[in-house]
Amino acid sequence: MKIDLRASLRAHNTFGFDVSAQYLAYLQNKSDVVEFISKAQSEKEPWQVFGGGSNLVLAKDLSGYTALMQIKGKSLLKETSTHFYIEAMAGESWHEFVEWSLNNGYPGLENLALIPGTVGAAPIQNIGAYGLELEEVFESLEAFDRLTQEFVTLNKSDCKFSYRHSVFKDEPNRYVVVSVCFVLPKQWQAKLSYAELEKAFAHQHSLKPIDIFHRVCEIRRDKLPDPQVIGNAGSFFHNPVVTNELYQQLKQQFPQLVAYPSGQQWKLAAGWLIDQCGFKGYKVGRVGVYEKQALVLVNHGGGTGEELLQLAEQIKKKVKEIFKVSLTVEPVIFN
Ligand SMILES: Cc1cc2nc3c(=O)[nH]c(=O)nc-3n(C[C@H](O)[C@H](O)[C@H](O)COP(=O)(O)OP(=O)(O)OC[C@H]3O[C@@H](n4cnc5c(N)ncnc54)[C@H](O)[C@@H]3O)c2cc1C
Repeated sequence: MKIDLRASLRAHNTFGFDVSAQYLAYLQNKSDVVEFISKAQSEKEPWQVFGGGSNLVLAKDLSGYTALMQIKGKSLLKETSTHFYIEAMAGESWHEFVEWSLNNGYPGLENLALIPGTVGAAPIQNIGAYGLELEEVFESLEAFDRLTQEFVTLNKSDCKFSYRHSVFKDEPNRYVVVSVCFVLPKQWQAKLSYAELEKAFAHQHSLKPIDIFHRVCEIRRDKLPDPQVIGNAGSFFHNPVVTNELYQQLKQQFPQLVAYPSGQQWKLAAGWLIDQCGFKGYKVGRVGVYEKQALVLVNHGGGTGEELLQLAEQIKKKVKEIFKVSLTVEPVIFN
């Protein structure tokens, strides 16, 4: 296993924050995972495993061991009369895996096209977009369990998925995911619950998965900044889920409030709340709020994680003051 000393993480986080890792390891097979964790533990050093760094705020240099997940491989594991079971190793690019699944005739992931990052990180926050969440197509995953010091298989109920959440967030640094298996029905059905997709395809006959894939990519390219051009981690805050009572109060006070039913509760559009506080396009020093989408915080170049977290606090405070709603941060913070 290759380990670099005092390595820059600038190219390994999509905000482009220029922090370093004391030791940076590259995990290319399952034995590297075991070696990495036993090395960190025997030296009593902290450790963490990253994928593409697209859901991180790195606000300081990282001490101890950091690893980049780079285990590759994807395949059709098995098929039944009704379903395909496809698997990808944790270091595969999520978007390339989605493309591969479509090109090989295993549709069902197209709504999740163009989400940055790796396959291994996808279950961590139960990625979701455009009417589909990972848990709906998830079968199982294999992970190294730090507590038992062995590889284990976790099924859907073990993972305790919920909105942008899972057991991996409750127990950080317990598991290192090495592969994920997805189950996709052979009888494909378009998922068009997201309004823009429904509008685009409402009257289209013989709709194909690839049509949805291309439309999702177009919408995303239009709405979200490309991290290669402007540093960001996608949505910076969760959409807050509130009781029906609070929703009714807010709706009365702010008739334009954007919200969606979520079981017995309501999910408020965090971007709308932030926009109403006047933050869209706001800049403070080298960081700011994206001009086209208030939910996305950006590094205009040369900014730091600390500056970004200060801005996030300012936004949270204002939203709380005006709407009495607490925002929670989506990316994982190292500060
Ligand atoms: C432009 C943009 C758009 C985005 N859009 C969406 C979206 O639509 N929906 C959505 O849900 N997310 C979105 N995201 C967030 C992000 O892409 C996802 O959360 C993605 O799954 C993170 O993958 P990653 O490999 O970059 O993880 P990282 O950022 O490297 O890591 C995130 C967390 O996962 C842990 N982790 C990573 N790999 C492993 C592993 N193998 N085993 C155990 N833990 C691991 C890390 O320790 C860290 O805690 C977006 C981000 C950007 C920049």
